Amino acid sequence: MTLPVGLDLTGRRALVVGGAPAVVLGARALVGAGALVHVVSPWLCEELEELAVSGGATWAAREYAGAADLDESWLVVVGSGDAAVDEAVRTDALAARIWCLDAVDPQGGTATLPATSLVATPDGTVTVAAHAPGDPLLATGVARTVDGLLAGGAVELRRRAARPGPGWVALVGGGPGADGLLTGRARELLAAADVVVVDRLAPRGVVDRLPSTVRVVDVGKSPGRHALAQDAINDLLVEQALAGRAVVRLKGGDPYVLGRGGEERLACEAHGIRVEVVPGVTSAVAVPAAAGIPVTHRGVARGFTVVTGHDELPAVPPGTDHTLVLLMGVGRLARSAWSLLAAGRPASCPVAVIERGFLPDQRVTFGTLADIAERAREVGVENPAVVVVGDVVRLSPDFPR
Ligand code: SAH
Repeated sequence: MTLPVGLDLTGRRALVVGGAPAVVLGARALVGAGALVHVVSPWLCEELEELAVSGGATWAAREYAGAADLDESWLVVVGSGDAAVDEAVRTDALAARIWCLDAVDPQGGTATLPATSLVATPDGTVTVAAHAPGDPLLATGVARTVDGLLAGGAVELRRRAARPGPGWVALVGGGPGADGLLTGRARELLAAADVVVVDRLAPRGVVDRLPSTVRVVDVGKSPGRHALAQDAINDLLVEQALAGRAVVRLKGGDPYVLGRGGEERLACEAHGIRVEVVPGVTSAVAVPAAAGIPVTHRGVARGFTVVTGHDELPAVPPGTDHTLVLLMGVGRLARSAWSLLAAGRPASCPVAVIERGFLPDQRVTFGTLADIAERAREVGVENPAVVVVGDVVRLSPDFPR
């Protein structure tokens, strides 16, 4: 009978008798567990030599010299290739009550190594270990199968599942798309999430690196697929939180800037769900900055307005010293420019269209209210893009002079 245990080998001496490939697995496992590994063998195979050269193990180039070699050791791995030597080591280890892993005949020693695999979970790394006495292939197969099931999300491996409690929703602003512009609080909540509900413009890098045990639901539009309707998103958040899950709703930019975050919060609160709102770096301010355009600047612009389309435009102060930021404005650019001209802005008022701000393929197109629609059409401007209108556009180092 065997009892699977976890040994803390950090800084503890472990002896390896033998230099053949048979002991490599055991030697590596001990080094990986932080043991001080000492190898006794007249010669070493290539892998063990590497281990010794890299400082992972020390090596005494000689034959096993008897029980004294076991002194101070907590564990011994044996596999010298010489049956008599191996037998002597096993006998000495037994007498000294040192656990012995037999690398050639696992049943011959007093300890066996399980087949293992490491699984990253949102709550830390879990070691899956399978013991199958006399059948290492079976053990490996079982460990890999469990690993695969967990990685595939077939089993919900969550601390929260075993700790029933109310679920919650965090409306998290993810910034304009670059991982570096995510806040510390956003990262903390993502690390605690069971379910992450993402928009198309949310930062994708962090989402891709979430452990496989986190369920990611993409509710953004992508080519050939419709986005989930807002009501359906609200229902999803409510349903998941009521099931006791930790839900992060990861949105692009800031949740409260043209992002319907307020509606999602109200929908959750109507069901008594605890909601935390984490502000994000809004594209309205950050994307112009990515093109070197400050939305206000002493002596150039004292304020700015953020809107989505032409309906609101007549109400925006018409002076070029008031910056106008248009989100979701690509499709209606020509009409917006026309509305602004009609509302009294000069035709020479500078305009910049910044596509995919902070992403590797960011592009900026400059023009004036009179010609920006045509220029944008010429170069094929696409969403997502932020349109900036006002004298501050001239402050961009790339503004054509
Ligand atoms: N809540 C978001 C805005 C959502 S509306 C925020 O605070 O940023 C979506 C619009 O945001 C897009 O149509 C586009 O105008 C703008 N946008 C978001 N990310 C962008 C990016 N990386 N580059 C350019 N525009 C972006």
